[in-house]
Amino acid sequence: MAKKHYQSVVVLTGAGISAESGIRTFRASDGLWEDHHIEDVASPEGFARDPDRVHRFYNQRRDQLLSQSIEPNPAHFSLADFELKFSENFSRDFSRDLSRDLSKSYTLITQNIDDLHERAGSSSPLHMHGELLKIRCSQSGRIFECRDNTTPLSKCPCCGMSGNLRPHVVWFGEMPLYMNEIYQALNSCDLFIAIGTSGNVYPAAGFFETAKMAGAHTVELNLEPSINGSQFAEQHYGPASEVIPHYVKALLAG
Ligand code: NAD
Repeated sequence: MAKKHYQSVVVLTGAGISAESGIRTFRASDGLWEDHHIEDVASPEGFARDPDRVHRFYNQRRDQLLSQSIEPNPAHFSLADFELKFSENFSRDFSRDLSRDLSKSYTLITQNIDDLHERAGSSSPLHMHGELLKIRCSQSGRIFECRDNTTPLSKCPCCGMSGNLRPHVVWFGEMPLYMNEIYQALNSCDLFIAIGTSGNVYPAAGFFETAKMAGAHTVELNLEPSINGSQFAEQHYGPASEVIPHYVKALLAG
């Protein structure tokens, strides 16, 4: 823990934070995600080739996410707790000293498409790779909540056409979401924490470098070192449900 009081904190989470909630990571087994080839179910080409398969794949992921067995774990809860206490401390400090810098902020960026951060109480995670519980009209770009199964025949709520709906998920080769907000936060943060991410998927894998250039203290929390692990200023390894609550407690204690 390099500094006692941070003003601007950015947390990036990856599939590892949800692993102990029962959602498998991408790279648990070579290039397969839940026993499917990634390029078949997570690329625009795969969708064009076989939209039925892609709809079925995300229907299964949605069913799994909404099943009773999937719940946020202590890692998700401790980040929500950190957000709450960090902003409480800020309001208290601010009311004491009105000349304080207003730039204190907390930004949670997630590569995950699940909703476990929200369920744990995090207020507005930036889902840079989209959200499983949303679908999108590929013509208008309009986004809709989705808890039911979809097929290539499903009619779009905005245009009434079949074939226009697709998962609101960023596939390989597509532009991630919220990039302006994300780079703005990275360029002004003084603490950057990467949690449960392998460092394989860009641009997220390069965020620590941007934060470092901005002068931030960088921390990796993961089951094992990621590809870039040695380049972080601080590292803690072990299961997210143990390492994150422990780290957050120490951070809040200053
Ligand atoms: P990844 O699958 O490439 O890597 C997972 C990382 O999590 C690894 O570094 C691994 O060491 C770590 N990990 C595994 N179990 C852990 C645990 N119990 N505690 C802490 N860390 C643990 O995941 P990624 O880097 O997030 O990138 C891949 C992509 O996977 C993202 O684009 C994301 O959209 C997609 N994805 C999302 C979900 C989800 O929404 N939960 C699940 C699978 C894949």
